Amino acid sequence: MSSRTKIKALLESGKTDIDVTVKGWVRTFRNNQFIALNDGSTNNNLQIVVDFENTDPALLKRITTGAALSVSGRLVASLGKGQSVDVKATQIEILGDSDPEKYPLQPKKHSLEFLREIAHLRFRTNTFGAIFRVRNTLSFAIHTFFQERGFVYLHTPIITASDAEGAGETFHVTNFDLANPPKTETGEIDFKQDFFGRATNLTVSGQLEGELGAMALSDIYTFGPTFRAENSNTTRHLAEFWMIEPEMAFYDLKDNADLAEELLKYVIRYALDKNKDDIEFLSQRLLDEEKQKPQQDRSELNLLEKLQFCLENDFERLTYTEAIEILKESTPNKKKKFQYLIEGWGTDLQSEHERYLVEKHFKKPVILTDYPKEIKSFYMRQNDDGKTVAAMDILFPGIGEIVGGSQREERLDKLEQRMDEIGIPKDELWWYLDTRRYGGCPHAGFGLGFERLVLFVTGMGNIRDVIPFPRFPKNAEF
Ligand code: ATP
Ligand code: MN
Repeated sequence: MSSRTKIKALLESGKTDIDVTVKGWVRTFRNNQFIALNDGSTNNNLQIVVDFENTDPALLKRITTGAALSVSGRLVASLGKGQSVDVKATQIEILGDSDPEKYPLQPKKHSLEFLREIAHLRFRTNTFGAIFRVRNTLSFAIHTFFQERGFVYLHTPIITASDAEGAGETFHVTNFDLANPPKTETGEIDFKQDFFGRATNLTVSGQLEGELGAMALSDIYTFGPTFRAENSNTTRHLAEFWMIEPEMAFYDLKDNADLAEELLKYVIRYALDKNKDDIEFLSQRLLDEEKQKPQQDRSELNLLEKLQFCLENDFERLTYTEAIEILKESTPNKKKKFQYLIEGWGTDLQSEHERYLVEKHFKKPVILTDYPKEIKSFYMRQNDDGKTVAAMDILFPGIGEIVGGSQREERLDKLEQRMDEIGIPKDELWWYLDTRRYGGCPHAGFGLGFERLVLFVTGMGNIRDVIPFPRFPKNAEF
C-alpha cells in the first residue's frame, strides 16, 4: 500500500505542489472532469481534476457515484471557486465499482426516512458523516472528562438477574428451546434449568452495580449499552441505547447536579472545538429544514447559537413543587392546551410539560429536583418532608429529559422500609443492601442518555438518526 493521505489532513496542511495519493468514494463526477472525492475524514470533498482527453474512456465510465478510488497526482492551488486545492490526477485506479443504475444513494437529497431504510449506506451522506463524527467526539469527550477527574471506568454486566430499578420492560435472556421449555411440577417454566440457573435479562441500567463500585473506588462511571423493551414509538426512545452512569461517594444532590452540568457543558464545548465544520454543516441543514415550517414553529436560535447559549448560561434549578406551580398557572394549562392538564401536586410530568418549562418559560436547560417519592425509584434518598426524594432530572430544549439522577438512600432502615412499601424483594438485592450494612455513606449519581445528547448537539429530530443501527419495535435490520 502506498502512503495515502486522508483528505482532512491534506486540506488542513496548507501545502501545495506536492505529489499525493488519496483514497475514497466518489460523491459526484461532473463533465467527465471533476470528481468530488470523500473519504469520511471530513465533510469536505476533495476535488480531483481528470485529464479526460488522455484518460481511457472505459475508465472514465467507471468513475460513478459511490465507486471507491485510489488517485495519485499533484496537489495544486485550485482555479475554481469553492475549494482551495485540487488534485490533478496522474493515475486513477478503481478499487470498487458502483453501478450507477442500481446504487441507492443518488447524488440528490434523500429523506431521512428513506436513508433509515438504507442505514448501511447512509454513512456516505454529508449529514450522517457529520453525525457519526460528532458522536465519536462526544464519546471520547465523556471519557476525557471523567478520566481528568480521577473517575474509574467500570464495566457493569450486560446480563443481569434483576430489573430492580423498575426502569422498564426487560428483554429476556435464555438458552431454552422456546417451543419446548422445561416445566416445573406446577407447570411453570423452570428457570433453574436455564443457562444461569435463574431467569435473566438484558440490563436496563448499570446503576446498582455502579453504586457497589463507588463504595470502594469513590468515583466511577459506566458507559455502555442498555436495553428496554418499552413499546414506545417516540422520537426519543430506543430499545437499545447507550448510557453514561457516574456514581460518586460523598456527593449530595447539589454536587451531583453540579457535576452533571459541568459534564454537559464540557462535552458540548469539546464537540464545538473538534467538529466545528460538521456542526456548522448540521446547523445549516437544520435551517434549510426549518424553512419548510411555518414561522412560529421555527427555532429562535440556530444550532450553533443554541449550543453556545447552553455553554454561557447557568442551568435553571428549581424543585418539582415550584415547577408544578409554574405549570398550573401557565397559559397552555389554563387554556386546556396541554394533553395532560396539571391539576395538582404529585403527578409525573409529561414531555409537553418539560418542554414548556425549558422552551417557553425559562428558555434554557432546567434542573428539576425533589420529586414526589411515589413517582421515583426506591433507591432515591428520602427528604425530611416525608413526601419527596432527592431526585434530579435535567431537561433540555427540544429533547426533554436528558439526565435522570438522585442522591441515593444510604440509610439501611429507610431503604428497607421503602422497598417493603413498594414490594421490592430484599432477598434478591442482598448484595445491594450489604453496602448499606458495611461502611455505607452518602452518595449520588445519574444516568445520561447518550443518544439524547447526540440529538441535542447535532440538532437532529429523531433518535433513530443518531445511532448507526437503531433498534426499535418491529425493527432489527442490519
Ligand atoms: P423517559 O421518561 O424519557 O422515558 P426515563 O425516566 O425512563 O426517561 P431513566 O430511567 O432515568 O429515564 O434513564 C436515564 C436516561 O436515559 C434518561 O434521562 C434518558 O436520557 C435516557 N433514556 C431513557 N430511556 C431511553 C430510551 N428508551 N432510549 C434512549 N434514551 C433513553
Ligand atoms: Mn422511560
